[in-house]
Amino acid sequence: MVLPQGQLAVMDDPPWEGDERHRRLEDELAATRRRLADLEESDRQIHEFLATLAHELRNPLAPIRNAVSLLRLGGLSAAMIEWYSTVIDRQLAHLTRLVDDLLDVSRISSGKITIHREPVEMAPVVETAVDSSRPLIEARKHTLEILLPDEPLQVEGDPTRLSQILLNLLNNAAKYTPEGGGIRLAVAREGAQAVVRVADTGLGISAELLPRVFDLFTQGDRSLDRAEGGLGIGLALVRRLVEMHGGSVEAHSAGPGCGSEFVVRLPWLAAPPAPRDSSGERETQPLQPAGPRRVLVIDDNRDAADMMTVLLELWGHEVRIAHHGLEALDLAADYRPDAVLLDIGLPGMDGYEVAKRLRQLPGWDGVMLVAVTGYGQDEDLRRSRETGFDHHLVKPVEPLKLECLLASAR
Ligand code: ADP
Repeated sequence: MVLPQGQLAVMDDPPWEGDERHRRLEDELAATRRRLADLEESDRQIHEFLATLAHELRNPLAPIRNAVSLLRLGGLSAAMIEWYSTVIDRQLAHLTRLVDDLLDVSRISSGKITIHREPVEMAPVVETAVDSSRPLIEARKHTLEILLPDEPLQVEGDPTRLSQILLNLLNNAAKYTPEGGGIRLAVAREGAQAVVRVADTGLGISAELLPRVFDLFTQGDRSLDRAEGGLGIGLALVRRLVEMHGGSVEAHSAGPGCGSEFVVRLPWLAAPPAPRDSSGERETQPLQPAGPRRVLVIDDNRDAADMMTVLLELWGHEVRIAHHGLEALDLAADYRPDAVLLDIGLPGMDGYEVAKRLRQLPGWDGVMLVAVTGYGQDEDLRRSRETGFDHHLVKPVEPLKLECLLASAR
């Protein structure tokens, strides 16, 4: 405001209100600065995460590539072929686990993880987790002590997710303990809680890391020599899954070099479960060795289709291949398979459309349609069921599972 000389300005606002406005502006400025710092921090975390992701995905690719080059040399003994194949198998399992973790984390962020609740006995949950982590524990020459309660101990929850919780803790114990260490898994009832303790004699956790250890993308010292890396997702998943079961999880460590202990507490399910009424359930068929089946493989990835065919023919099946939907429909006019392995992401006509059209062909109601796809979210399973698929397999398909499915075709 410019005032002619000699005039007095009468302010609308008393001076204390001007101060107030000033303070509000300063508060807003401080809040904006904080938001900016948060954005910068999450930007930094994303960049760091992508770098870690690239690193962790490349790690298993290197031995796979080398093993394949060695296999190509030819003239190898059966023992060497077995060894190289085991390496490929192990690294593929690791890659698959990373991808599964990634998918889980995206479901966590969007709140899409669901758990199926049922009365669950803890002993088999422990057994499944231990079986899956045993290769890593043995490779690192650790001793594993398992303490189970004498009485059955039940919780209410999702057995697969409960095993996943314990598996993550056991794998971490194996990873973050120098070779030849000790891991102890103890399950007990404490009051109204089922308590699982996973303790190790490993690297321990610093007081600085301890309060953040369950946060997404939090990782300790990345320069340590580690058997298998990770993405800083495992413990965030553990906490989320435990909380979805109505429980809690804590981490304890006296510091670097002093080992760590993770304690999972779940509500104990006191009442024994009512005997399940199995009258409405389908009888499980004893597994028959699969006789030769006629199989139609539909996949636009030629390598994938060829490898699948080699495997199926090795098992004695007769295989035809189509690389896209129209080719499949052409073939289907005069070829009636027992089972169709159908990729969903086909160019032009997608797998859902192909499945719908195949189902409409005369005499095709009894043909087993199997979706073989990279998409494995609940939503994808629902969609393939609604489209008329009999089964939904997520790539990479476990060969034994496929052979069992084919055994039940026809
Ligand atoms: P990742 O193992 O992929 O780094 P996690 O979320 O499983 O991610 O673990 C986060 C961090 O917590 C790890 O990077 C590691 O520093 C620390 N940590 C987890 N478990 C243990 C353990 N048993 N002993 C020592 N440190 C651990």
